[in-house]
Amino acid sequence: MELGKNKVGRFHYSLSEPDGVEIENSHDGEPVTYLHGHGNVLPALEEALAGKAEGASLTVELPPEKAYGVRREDAIQRVPIKHLSHPGKLRVGTIATVHTDQGHRQVTVVKVGKFNADVDSNHPLAGKALRFDIEIVEVRDASAEEISHGHAHGPGGHHH
Ligand code: ZN
Repeated sequence: MELGKNKVGRFHYSLSEPDGVEIENSHDGEPVTYLHGHGNVLPALEEALAGKAEGASLTVELPPEKAYGVRREDAIQRVPIKHLSHPGKLRVGTIATVHTDQGHRQVTVVKVGKFNADVDSNHPLAGKALRFDIEIVEVRDASAEEISHGHAHGPGGHHH
């Protein structure tokens, strides 16, 4: 069976920068489980996975525009600390959530003052070219329930 619309794929991956510095990998945990064709993985990654079968390995290199976007320099803003939710103590490098009129947004703290903090709303991987080394461990048909929810269920997928 090959990956395509409404198939569920499970894969292990290692994510690195093209020069070989590893950012993260899934090998110590469950493989990623995703429903193909529903926007659950980066579009360029989904395109590369289409038509690949169980057991296949592939390397996908993406420029920043096809990964998490280019960095926007205007994405650094000063916000009142009381508008931030964050685990533990607020410090440089903390990933916090800002509550705005437009909803919630993940940001990285770049400077902490007494009442305000400067936060960067670029995705932490924005501006980076990325390389995914992927091993597909399973391809199966999605259930009707998974298709209606728009995501995969089970280990490595969504739990309800
Ligand atoms: Zn669901």
